[in-house]
Amino acid sequence: MHVGFLGLGAIGAPMAAHLARRGPLTVWNRTAARAAEVAATDVVITCLSTSTDVAGLLEGADGILAGLRPGALFLDCTSGDPASSRRIAARLAERGVAFADAPVSGGTNGAEAGVLTIMVGSDPETFARARPVLAAFGKRIEHVGPVGAGDALKAVNNALLAVNILALGEGLCALVKAGVPPRLGLEVLNASSGRSFVSEVLVPERVLTGAWPRTFRLALLDKDVGIATGLLAETGVPGPVIELAASLLSQARATLGETADYLDPIRLTERAAGVEIRG
Ligand code: NDP
Repeated sequence: MHVGFLGLGAIGAPMAAHLARRGPLTVWNRTAARAAEVAATDVVITCLSTSTDVAGLLEGADGILAGLRPGALFLDCTSGDPASSRRIAARLAERGVAFADAPVSGGTNGAEAGVLTIMVGSDPETFARARPVLAAFGKRIEHVGPVGAGDALKAVNNALLAVNILALGEGLCALVKAGVPPRLGLEVLNASSGRSFVSEVLVPERVLTGAWPRTFRLALLDKDVGIATGLLAETGVPGPVIELAASLLSQARATLGETADYLDPIRLTERAAGVEIRG
């Protein structure tokens, strides 16, 4: 099976590398002629920044929609928004192309190790076709509902991630000021009920060490939490906590810029508090 991959960013590149080890792969680097080649494959995978970018790639000037092969499979690993994915799926269905939203979780480390969690929204037949392809870079691959359901689940996941990052940054700054050494404070939290992926992995590896690597842009997390607030509104669920996180992230993005990393809002809290969480 010939796979085409579009979107060689921080997470897309290691995902594509796994596919390249399994069989024929054509990748795209924004050259129009190359896009046509990628579109003619059996399976097209996208991993762009937003659903708007995916729609533009399909339907914009030099869009690849017309070049897709009837019977092909289109898997969108972008963390997208459910309404856009449903619209894209309908456009593709007119051309006989099956669609699944298949956003991923596990970060760039998970992508390099080929152990991503993948949340798939599609009909069951499309999921059955998608699963062996996604297995190239995924470990837990779940069919979670119809088209858009994968995007919805990913948005909720990242809203929880954002809430944890913001709240833990605030809590640890307060602990430093209260005289608790940050490493010890974290160790105790991680043996208690307030622990999370952020407290167990992200803060110890990136904040305590002062390493601050850039692996996931704050702009993309801001986009994801915006999708989550849209989901709350669409479903009529009151969501003051996630809405506040969305507002704080948007402010942080405006302050820190488009290349800032998703943990950088903790630095803003540190600055405002006049302390650093290191140890
Ligand atoms: P990056 O910003 O590193 O890469 C985005 C990629 O999309 C680049 O190859 C970029 O091309 C391409 N792209 C963006 N806009 C367009 C466009 N309009 N037309 C064509 N190509 C475009 O992002 P990531 O790789 O980090 O993220 C990709 C997706 O995966 C996002 O939806 C993100 O939320 C999600 N994700 C990211 C994770 C991470 O840890 N990084 C974890 C889980 C999900 P170019 O470089 O030429 O601009």
